[in-house]
Amino acid sequence: MKTIFEKSNGTDGINLTDEAQNLNFLNEKFIRKDKPNLPQLSELDVMRHYKELSDMNFCIEKGFYPLGSCTMKYNPKVNELLASLDGFNIHPEITDDMAQGALKLMYELSSALLKITGMDAVTLQPSAGAHGEMTGMMIIKKYFDTIGEKRTKVIIPDSAHGTNPASAKMAGFDVVEIKSNEKGQVDLENLKSVLDKDVAAIMMTNPNTLGIFEQHVEEISRIMHENGSLLYYDGANFNAIMGYTNPKLMGFDVVHLNLHKTFSTPHGGGGPGAGVVAVTEKLKDYLPTPVIEFDGNKYYKNCDIKHSIGKVKDFYGNFNVLVKAYAYILMMGNNLKQASENAVLNANYLKEKLKGYYDLPYNQPCMHEFVITGEKQKRENGVSTLNIAKALMDENTHPPTVYFPLIVHEAIMIEPTESEHKEKLDEFAQAMIKIANTAKTNPEQILTSPHTTPVKKIDEVAAARHPDLNFKN
Ligand SMILES: *Cc1c(COP(=O)(O)O)cnc(C)c1O
Repeated sequence: MKTIFEKSNGTDGINLTDEAQNLNFLNEKFIRKDKPNLPQLSELDVMRHYKELSDMNFCIEKGFYPLGSCTMKYNPKVNELLASLDGFNIHPEITDDMAQGALKLMYELSSALLKITGMDAVTLQPSAGAHGEMTGMMIIKKYFDTIGEKRTKVIIPDSAHGTNPASAKMAGFDVVEIKSNEKGQVDLENLKSVLDKDVAAIMMTNPNTLGIFEQHVEEISRIMHENGSLLYYDGANFNAIMGYTNPKLMGFDVVHLNLHKTFSTPHGGGGPGAGVVAVTEKLKDYLPTPVIEFDGNKYYKNCDIKHSIGKVKDFYGNFNVLVKAYAYILMMGNNLKQASENAVLNANYLKEKLKGYYDLPYNQPCMHEFVITGEKQKRENGVSTLNIAKALMDENTHPPTVYFPLIVHEAIMIEPTESEHKEKLDEFAQAMIKIANTAKTNPEQILTSPHTTPVKKIDEVAAARHPDLNFKN
């Protein structure tokens, strides 16, 4: 490929007017004496370059994207249109009087999220799920400091997302890991055995990262609260439960939601997200400032929060992301419940279609996602989960999440979301079955995958040992 930086002399894509070229307003000493060394390309050359790059990318608009735990649902394009409305493109330092529309949007989004989670107060500030977790853990820490209890430990099941222990640690807690039982759930006896007065909280994901609903969650809540400890809900998997239950009903005190997963704002590729945090009444006075409030007449920023942990992000969080999530929630209304229902139905449908071909470590109904393993293929055909994931790339499919959760060897974690129709699910099942069959008849084909992507099989050892981190012309 000829790169955009190679020059074809004399071509340009834009003609500046005399007015635009007038640099009189600049101090003479800042004006360059020589012409800048810019690529010389027509507008069409540039368009082709970027189109070619974008064609190399994979996205939900291009094909099936069952990346477990990441909820890669379709992001309606009308969200983008609304987020780009002029009225939302305002300076964050503008006065409350001049920003009533934006404040109202944040207030109403907060109200909707409180209804969905069952909680009593919310902050929209954190910019990612992990950021929400850290905020929630800081709130729990400040709460115990304020009531004068010295609690140093946080319990986390071994199926948890890696960000959970990292967030607890960053907030200053020691992490105590507990093993899941044979049903893939928190083991009550294990939990009781590590519970003492030093325990500040448990961090749970429900449904957990195996896609399994923790059926003893109410009992866990009772045990924890009796011990004076709190419960943190990792709500990144909220897509499974909307309208059916909520963290408050399950007995949680703090929850974060990933608006960039469940509430359809784009993610992946490092784009901005929103990891909003909601709490019960008792933790309300610990939220980051400001909290958006309404006095019956005007919306305003309340910066006077008694035990606030302070700010966790500049201004109010990623405002444009909030606009998109708000648009999605309004558009969906009570159909959010239907979205969860379809997400769970799609996952169970795929699980049943695949279980004759791949091992299913937890053979039970799942929620919005499920975990199979490539162990059989590895044992019998020498083809690993990583090879299977790469082979899927030749089927116009983004690979599922692999090797997570850590407690399942050769894990393949599949989350189809509600966005897909039956034909697409059948197509994916066919691709997985084809790969399982090819692994038996022609394992070499799978071992050398992918064959059709712009970048073929890469040397991962060399990439790790000799990383080339420089951008080169
Ligand atoms: C995605 C995810 C997180 C972290 O969210 P980020 O926005 O990536 O920081 C935490 N927990 C679970 C279960 C997740 O799936």
